[in-house]
Amino acid sequence: MTIARFAPSPTGHLHVGNLRTALLNCMVCRKSNGRFILRLDDTDPQRSKPEYAESIMVDLEWLGLNWDQLEKQSLRRQNYCDAAEKLRDLGVLYECFETPEELEFKRKLQLKAGKPPVYDRSSLSLTAAERDSFRKEKSGYWRFKLDLERIEWADMVQGQVSIDAASLSDPVLIRADGQVLYTLASVVDDVEMGITDVVRGSDHITNTAAQIQIMNRLGAVPPRFAHHSLLTGPEGEPLAKRLGALSIREMRQKGIEPMALLSLLAYSGSSAAVQARSGLSELIDDFEISRFSTAPTKFDAQDLIPLNSKLLAMRPYSAVEDRVRSLGVPDDIAERFWTTTRTNISKLEDLADWWAIFSGTFGPEIDEADREFVELAKSLLPRLPFDDKTWSNWTAAVSSKTGRKGKALYLPLRKALTGRSSGPEMASVMPLLQNVRRTGDQ
Ligand code: GLU
Repeated sequence: MTIARFAPSPTGHLHVGNLRTALLNCMVCRKSNGRFILRLDDTDPQRSKPEYAESIMVDLEWLGLNWDQLEKQSLRRQNYCDAAEKLRDLGVLYECFETPEELEFKRKLQLKAGKPPVYDRSSLSLTAAERDSFRKEKSGYWRFKLDLERIEWADMVQGQVSIDAASLSDPVLIRADGQVLYTLASVVDDVEMGITDVVRGSDHITNTAAQIQIMNRLGAVPPRFAHHSLLTGPEGEPLAKRLGALSIREMRQKGIEPMALLSLLAYSGSSAAVQARSGLSELIDDFEISRFSTAPTKFDAQDLIPLNSKLLAMRPYSAVEDRVRSLGVPDDIAERFWTTTRTNISKLEDLADWWAIFSGTFGPEIDEADREFVELAKSLLPRLPFDDKTWSNWTAAVSSKTGRKGKALYLPLRKALTGRSSGPEMASVMPLLQNVRRTGDQ
């Protein structure tokens, strides 16, 4: 069975970048009736916040990306310590004592000499006596000793990947203050939770190389990996600076529909064209991880607007009934109100504007040159309530009285009634009007 996980660190709100990872993992699972785990990578007590964990879960639920199992790394410390013990016993976890300043100094020297800034393993050659004397001053931190071979895997997005372990620094697994770091915690979880597929950003490719070796040392078979490309802004710029504006909660507040977001993210960066899909299952039917490209994927929040409009235009009345009623639209015209306006909104909030128009009187949008014409037209209006024929009968009467035709006839009337020069078919609008009366009528 496929088991995949979405593993956000609760150090901020969910944004389009990590949502894409969540969606791809969820689709990998759902495509094969697998199990989808939400794993909160909350081992860093300084940066992880319960309110972010909560907000990530609220956003995922709003999006309909439901998980089958919830895990928190903060509750699994013992498992990580046990694995560290095992690695120590195998002689592949070693204690180091350099200060961050010493490491930085070494890095600079290596770079100056044109060498890659790879950790030189000097702590590995400390004698027991040297280690003891360091331990009197400070606690050490722990690195995994990489096997200096090529690490290879068949990546579902990147194709065959081959990384020379000699080009990597031995990764730090445990900090001097005892905090277990992501690399170890993630490996232990992936192994113990039986993860079969890991889908994550291409910024994790070198982590994967080290993690494969650690998994092998722990006696586990590594999962399949897929490293998707990273999202950039519309001009190819990094998204990092604008992530606040691209948070899912902000999009929700702006009236973006969950399926607009999911549709855009499910197709962006793949060889398939973006389509507005009204349900996750349709996206899953269309989903193939191997279709994703390794090139950076451009994300433009503006692309959400037409998708939002399309999705709303497809939505049946039953799905918005409560929302329409909450505006105070009378029952007998509520469904018509929806079917008339749904093709003229880009977010549900726009309905309130249309209802304000339909429940209002003649608006102020009358050009000076049309004032007399509109006054005359008003005197020819039938009595409320209007029906499907009102527009054609009325405009025919106005036309025969004034001789106006086409745009000169229709546009001033549309503007006088709705305050807008475009919108839904006026024949459908007329029966929705509540307070537009013939001149002289009460
Ligand atoms: N917490 C990690 C991150 O957000 C998870 C990476 C992974 O999927 O292993 O980058």
